[in-house]
Amino acid sequence: MPEKNQVCTAEITALTSEGSGVCRIDGMAVFVPETAVGDVCEVKIVKVLKSYAYGIVEKIVKPSDDRIENSCPVYKKCGGCLLRHISYDAECRTKNDIVRDAFQRIGGLSPKFDSFIGAEDTEHYRNKAQYPVAEIDGKAVCGFFAPRSHRIVPVDDCALQPKIFSDILGTVMDYINEKKLSAYNEASNTGTIRHIYLRRGAHSGEIMVCIVVRKDMSRQLSALCRILSEKYSDIKSIIMNINSQKTNVILGDKCVTLWGNDTISDVMCGNTVEISPLSFYQVNTVQAERLYAKALEYAAPDGNEVIADLYCGAGTIGLSMAENAKKIVGVEIIPQAVENAKKNAEHNNISNADFYCGDAGKVFRELRKNGCSPNIIVVDPPRKGCSAETIDVIANSAPQKIVMISCNPATAARDAKMLSDNGYSVDKVCGVDLFPRTGHVECVVLMSRKK
Ligand code: SAH
Repeated sequence: MPEKNQVCTAEITALTSEGSGVCRIDGMAVFVPETAVGDVCEVKIVKVLKSYAYGIVEKIVKPSDDRIENSCPVYKKCGGCLLRHISYDAECRTKNDIVRDAFQRIGGLSPKFDSFIGAEDTEHYRNKAQYPVAEIDGKAVCGFFAPRSHRIVPVDDCALQPKIFSDILGTVMDYINEKKLSAYNEASNTGTIRHIYLRRGAHSGEIMVCIVVRKDMSRQLSALCRILSEKYSDIKSIIMNINSQKTNVILGDKCVTLWGNDTISDVMCGNTVEISPLSFYQVNTVQAERLYAKALEYAAPDGNEVIADLYCGAGTIGLSMAENAKKIVGVEIIPQAVENAKKNAEHNNISNADFYCGDAGKVFRELRKNGCSPNIIVVDPPRKGCSAETIDVIANSAPQKIVMISCNPATAARDAKMLSDNGYSVDKVCGVDLFPRTGHVECVVLMSRKK
């Protein structure tokens, strides 16, 4: 077993989803951040636990061929891009391995793995940013939280965000400082401006500016609305979101439209979609469209089937399948997202889609009692995966196919395993990169009912 402060030479053989390299020292897995597969380095052991240890690099003896120069000034500081030190090719290989490993090792499953779908654009691809605001040296600043902390690293130009975001952010922060509006203080739950939240439709270019405040600031923000709307013609909506709680959840329940529309619109898989500030909307539109196309390929509906879209958000996946289905039934827990989904169906003249608000498992159980019996179920849960209740009701409803989409391969593999123990074979898995340069990866899974 390695010992604390011991220094050993070792080769990095894998990367974890947290962007840490892994090597083996005295038979034990040691996690070493900021390394690349193929690096030979002198590793100093900093912490030893029961079955693994943590180390840091003392010296790189032989750098990996995957390494590249990176030019981001806040790399390592902001906690966003964990994989900026390796080539994008190497990143796709790593992410493919992470997906494979989850299904084979965690799930004990052996599906066919389709070719990983990497992105063409690895910069400026995001359509959403949420910048926390804090006071540093008497001035309001915004940026991103440093890894595993609530200390703000000032960032005014993030390589993943649309270029215009840094300009808008500058205008907003200048205004806040000029008017001496106070930045929120998390520890004491005092101050007012908590977050600057920006969204931009990738296809439409429409921008929403949402200022998250601890208490109503509509009067103090009215001049800002005039400045922003005059300066940026793409801004279509300015919202104040009130979050008075002492919490690290960013958004509160109450949204007040200060200027323009309540929502912005964008185009997703050919459908016009309206998005309100509280609705989930995939942050990388181009790659999300590829993900949904893969989900459609897996679902392969024949036009006469009922498709359930559980965890449906603003309805984007179900609506993209509507013309190939007899009926779409969507379930989502956030009321504003359900409202968006209903309107999105209406605006795109989709009359065969119904949306329900509530917990996916509970609502679907009720729908089943009332005779809803989908042939295909699409599930797209948050990172923690499906609840046991949802898995249970899905398995009991016995659709021919289940298509699972997930931003967390580990919970997707766990859920797929549960379904494989309940009458399903896990046929295919495909990794899709929606989050280039970060440690995150999305996957889509096809399961079919065993004969
Ligand atoms: N399918 C959508 C949204 C996926 S994100 C899209 O591709 O855009 C996951 C969604 O699950 C979010 O919209 C979230 O609000 C919703 N959600 C979280 N917990 C839920 C639950 N218990 N029941 C139903 N929906 C839930």
